[in-house]
Amino acid sequence: MTHTLLSAEDLHIAFPGRRGGPVARAVDGVDLTVGAGETVALVGESGCGKTTLARALLGLVRPTSGTVSFDGRPLDYTPRALKAYRRRAQLVLQDPTGSLNPRHTVYDAVAEGLRVHRAPGDERAAVARALSLAGLRPPERFFLRYPHELSGGQRQRVVIAGALVLEPALIVADEPVASLDASVRGEILALLLRLRAELGLSALIVTHDLGLAWNIADRVAVMYLGRVVESGPVETVLTEPRHPYTRALLSVLPESPLPPAVLTGEPPDPARIPPGCRFHARCPALAAGAAEEAGVAARCVTEQPAPVRGDGVACHLV
Ligand code: SF4
Repeated sequence: MTHTLLSAEDLHIAFPGRRGGPVARAVDGVDLTVGAGETVALVGESGCGKTTLARALLGLVRPTSGTVSFDGRPLDYTPRALKAYRRRAQLVLQDPTGSLNPRHTVYDAVAEGLRVHRAPGDERAAVARALSLAGLRPPERFFLRYPHELSGGQRQRVVIAGALVLEPALIVADEPVASLDASVRGEILALLLRLRAELGLSALIVTHDLGLAWNIADRVAVMYLGRVVESGPVETVLTEPRHPYTRALLSVLPESPLPPAVLTGEPPDPARIPPGCRFHARCPALAAGAAEEAGVAARCVTEQPAPVRGDGVACHLV
């Protein structure tokens, strides 16, 4: 059992409704852990709350209730403690073009974190090491380049170098390859895997793409409308999915052995989460009569399944 580096316990994040409307429950009772050296994929459709959850795990959003802990200690939200925390837990954003200042050279972009944190030591050597780790070699060749002079894959590597320069214990990557061409995606995935092997880095990868989770993660947590509905080792969840939502997401992947289950409609508004199971209006198992046959259909529409604590499935059928 690896040592738990990052954990969320019964996390809730609510945003006030617009013009006095109902409160939006973006994250609604989530438990999640990332072990030392472990890669966890947090998967779900857009709007399911995964980015809000990731931001809360980095201390960028303060939870309404519940606890985020790092290395066994609850986060301290004083500015000084948060600054120290952000050295250890780094965010890698989705769009490298948007995350890089077009007027900053690669050197300045990577050195920025060192300067913000007033890190002691040889800045040039640290920048060169980070670029090298991110696969931009020889690093000196990239120092004076500007983002527009780089390919999309190289820009993403610069963003990753900017996260690595502070020698974090954890990176949180939000859709790290979503904006890249298919040919470059494989390279960046290989880089993330190499970093885990070489540095023992922990990672939380936020993605809508179960295929990406399969390629990179040790564990996967599937999120729907503010809750984790299924969580476990990647081979278990992706080869023997048990929650109807996970099954539906997997069934539409090419070469899936599962019967295709097309999800109809959109997820409900987080300000209007329905009673019962929050997935019931779209659940193929309920629509096809499997829940009725198992005698749980009435509970599906009236009773919320118990939340997933650790690994498990939030469904009355399971
Ligand atoms: Fe479907 Fe019922 Fe399970 Fe919800 S609890 S996923 S509605 S079977």
